[in-house]
Amino acid sequence: MNLKQELHEMATQFGADLFGVAPASSLYGAPEGHRADDILSDASSVVILAMKFLDTQVDILPVMGQGNAFFGESSRQKMYAAHGGLVARHLDDVTFKLARFIERKGYQAYFQMAAEGGTDNRYLMGLLSLKHAAVNAGLGVFGRHSLIITPQYGPRVRLAGIITNAELESDNPLTENFCANCAQPCITQCPANALSVPTNSDPYTINKFSCCQYLGTRPACAICLKVCPHGNSNK
Ligand code: SF4
Ligand code: SF4
Repeated sequence: MNLKQELHEMATQFGADLFGVAPASSLYGAPEGHRADDILSDASSVVILAMKFLDTQVDILPVMGQGNAFFGESSRQKMYAAHGGLVARHLDDVTFKLARFIERKGYQAYFQMAAEGGTDNRYLMGLLSLKHAAVNAGLGVFGRHSLIITPQYGPRVRLAGIITNAELESDNPLTENFCANCAQPCITQCPANALSVPTNSDPYTINKFSCCQYLGTRPACAICLKVCPHGNSNK
């Protein structure tokens, strides 16, 4: 069993739902300071793990114009936010175990946490873009809500990652377009009007300032995640 197979087996055994590897070079197009080799100079691979939310914790979120929009709105958002934190901590625990294993094998390991660590909330941007790494590792593709859509769970996942100088075999990016033929509820139901149809070849257009401002007034939002038909068992 090679190192990648060992890591995949450990990730599954400890509770991660998805696992993939991207070449560090696939992030060369990221902004300066956010490339894998800006963080680890001899970076070779980026390991990405995902863990899914409990569906019901997402399904209880209020959506504008629906009956439950104002009844218990804040409590539901708080419960979702707490659940997201719980999933992040569990995923971080799994990913930390893998990072330690990589280090014990004699390689370097930078651990990008699923929780707050390493994320600049002014720009909703992590030191390493876990979403871009996840796309390059074949876990999913970008949707018009700017989240990644996985074939298994849609956007209902948290991500964590490890940059390492260990050379691991890469996975192939997916080629599906999950947004084709969708009525785009993520755009039409965003309460901050932060999302719009891209006018160029970008997979999404988001006004992060508007999204951040709205999130600043709420315990959580995630309406774009909830209304996406992918991963929604109630669709
Ligand atoms: S989190 Fe809320 S405000 Fe931000 S883009 Fe999604 S729906 Fe809009
Ligand atoms: S709601 Fe539709 S358009 Fe928006 S991300 Fe999901 S599949 Fe794409």
